[in-house]
Amino acid sequence: MGIPDKLPNTKTIKQKVEELTKDCVLCGLKIPPEFDPKTGEPFWFGGHNPRPLANNGRCCDVCNHTKVLPARVLEMM
Ligand SMILES: [Zn+2]
Repeated sequence: MGIPDKLPNTKTIKQKVEELTKDCVLCGLKIPPEFDPKTGEPFWFGGHNPRPLANNGRCCDVCNHTKVLPARVLEMM
């Protein structure tokens, strides 16, 4: 009969993106998730750990490279 053994995924990609998008705690920009073009599943989302600049939340890729990583280097010195 061809009955699918999985429930259909009722969420659209747009809903998934909104659910997974976080605000960067350092610059306030949205951090959009990255989707695997083959599976359509998000493989990276939620940004990076902003420590030591912030103890909570997530930061974007740009802040991670321009602010967080330099701050970690300074912390080690
Ligand atoms: Zn940022």
